[in-house]
Amino acid sequence: MPDEAYAMLPQDWAAFCKAAGLPAFRAKQILQGLYRDRIADWAALTTLPPALRERLAAEMPLRQPREVTRTPAGGDGVVKYLLEMADGERVETVWIPADGRVTQCISSQVGCAMHCAFCASGQLGCVRSLTAGEIVGEVMALVRAQGRVPNNIVVMGMGEPFMNYDAVLRALRVLNCQQGLNIGARHITLSTCGVVPGIERLAGEGVQFELSVSLHAPDDALRDRLMPVNKRWPLGVLLPACDAYTAATGRIITYEYTLVRGLNDRPAHAAALIRLLRGRKARVNLIPLSPVAEFEGQTPTHADCLAFLDALLRAGIHTTMRRSRGRQADAACGQLRLRNPKGPTHGTATEN
Ligand code: SAH
Repeated sequence: MPDEAYAMLPQDWAAFCKAAGLPAFRAKQILQGLYRDRIADWAALTTLPPALRERLAAEMPLRQPREVTRTPAGGDGVVKYLLEMADGERVETVWIPADGRVTQCISSQVGCAMHCAFCASGQLGCVRSLTAGEIVGEVMALVRAQGRVPNNIVVMGMGEPFMNYDAVLRALRVLNCQQGLNIGARHITLSTCGVVPGIERLAGEGVQFELSVSLHAPDDALRDRLMPVNKRWPLGVLLPACDAYTAATGRIITYEYTLVRGLNDRPAHAAALIRLLRGRKARVNLIPLSPVAEFEGQTPTHADCLAFLDALLRAGIHTTMRRSRGRQADAACGQLRLRNPKGPTHGTATEN
């Protein structure tokens, strides 16, 4: 059984109450307190007897990440939060409103060990993984700050979710369950840089979460250069694992493809990507590169992005282009990074 409140699923609370000799309705009261009333502290759950509140405070800490800073990222409601965990480690998470709905982009690790060339999150390596309770706490911190539950969750912040598989899956189950935040499974998206064992495990979970896979290159030579993970699980291993995932779950994978000027955005790259995905059940999400100080690549022109999109669409591949938001505050894809008082801290990548 977990040892922190936000990591507990309804069945865990039921088991906790049973083991403690408490009536079953206590589990329901606890879940309502946590996710409906959004208590910040066990002392606030006054429907429980004082002795039980004290016991919970001792055994099931309600670890609230502390809001360190809140940075509006443009005039369109995007807000980046820097949150601090109990041990002082910090992660960034982004609140992204659009058309009356909200997506929260959450982090799964403090930093990242995958070292993709264009991504700020991995520049300083991985300090540690977040616990399941801390990941749920990331969402609860913003639910409290914003006064509403996000409609969508994307695990696309700092970290590689499949390098922290158990905690991430547990957290997503808590967010998804009816007595938790009740966020629909199809509104929860996991993104992996291509950690094949994680894809294989997820295929067997019986969950309906959406899966995105970061591709970024149509061949191994280029993908090796951009994403060290490709040396471990090259395309010849990754794509069959993705096909097997789709065969087992009936779920179609979205391949993310960050466009970098001149590097992977040429018509020849589009043609190679079409060859790679033709005959596969696949969607593609194009992401124009967000500027990152440590990577010299440039954002392609809008015309080149559209030409790439058009080539894929004409080949019959279901393709969308991500509207990149939050760049003014380094809150866009790939710009979240370690901002940690304990470790070395980099300045912001862009000052515009
Ligand atoms: N580690 C996971 C989660 C990150 S999701 C993964 O790699 O999939 C964030 C998405 O943004 C990934 O597809 C990532 O490769 C992409 N990305 C990283 N750096 C970027 C940048 N500078 N510009 C645009 N997209 C970037």
